Amino acid sequence: MTTTLIATMRAVAVTPKQPGSARQVELPIPTIARGTAVMRVLEVGIDGTDTEINQGLYGEPPPGSSFLVIGHEALSVVEAVGEGVSGFSPGDLVVSTVRRPDDCPNCRAGESDMCLFGTYTERGIKGAHGYMAEYYSETPAFMIKIPPALRPFAVLLEPLSIVEKATFQAWKIQERMLWQPGRAVVLGAGPIGILATILLRLRGLEVHVYAKSPPDSLQSRILGDVGATYQNVDDHPVAGIKDELGQIDFMLEGTGNSSVAFEAMAQLGTNGVLCLTGVSAGKRSIEIPADVINFQMVLGNRVTFGSVNANRRYFEMGLEHFQQAEQKWPGIFERLITRRVLFGDFLAALDRRPEDIKTLLTIAAA
Ligand code: BGC
Ligand code: ZN
Repeated sequence: MTTTLIATMRAVAVTPKQPGSARQVELPIPTIARGTAVMRVLEVGIDGTDTEINQGLYGEPPPGSSFLVIGHEALSVVEAVGEGVSGFSPGDLVVSTVRRPDDCPNCRAGESDMCLFGTYTERGIKGAHGYMAEYYSETPAFMIKIPPALRPFAVLLEPLSIVEKATFQAWKIQERMLWQPGRAVVLGAGPIGILATILLRLRGLEVHVYAKSPPDSLQSRILGDVGATYQNVDDHPVAGIKDELGQIDFMLEGTGNSSVAFEAMAQLGTNGVLCLTGVSAGKRSIEIPADVINFQMVLGNRVTFGSVNANRRYFEMGLEHFQQAEQKWPGIFERLITRRVLFGDFLAALDRRPEDIKTLLTIAAA
């Protein structure tokens, strides 16, 4: 009898659609194949999507698997590269993108974030295992090399890529007219809301953030330090924002609450654009002031659009903006990392607390 010893690694997996199923699993360590690199994961950021997946609301296992390894925001270090891999060597820091293309025209053009057929996969989310594991393998096409100076906060590159795309698309849409945006409103003060605020401040806009965090929270201090104002929605409801501020040129909804998204439409100024980024996986219905929204949208040339995911060029833009923002506001990104949890406590990491901005699961020390 012969026994083959396969080296295994720890990972965190869920059974999609089964609430609270997150658990540790043992999987074979990926082997080095031609054209791929194997990454050793340092840390993984947790976001609302992970929480929704663990609540059984979202997520899909890879074909033939009963479980899904979660995690889609990972900073890793290249452990080994296979034959035919150029541009990466062991020791390089890497963040990989999330979505993998199908064969629709957009995916074939390198824009899987604009996929037409919907048969894409997303690592850690839809049909492909994610990064909440000790190792993963990937091909260079989806790997972003991280300059060592960005190590302390580079794990935020994936959420940053989401707002890079959202803002880039909004500005692209507004090329339809003469548009000189002065004032922006961001709804939500989680990582998406704060990162969006940073990008909008870099663009020179006046930014007002509305969210649930208390007025004296870390969220509000960080926002104040980048020159934005912060209001708590209990005292300043979304329905009153335009009366409070006047003309709003750009709004970004980053709460994932669909009723906030509809309320926001009625606050947008003339020629304004509203970008929705929050994925709401539920099935909730609400009543909306349909006439008012329709009337305003038409008479004010307003646009509301959704934006999801990001292809690699938005990750690359993120690297630029990381550096620009760090120069203006040194240490700003590290302040978003409010909790680090060791692998064994992954359940505590998945449990979101009101004071959390970004929680990281630490997989390896260095
Ligand atoms: C991820 C995106 C993904 C989206 C929808 C987000 O949390 O950051 O990459 O496309 O979820 O699945
Ligand atoms: Zn596609």
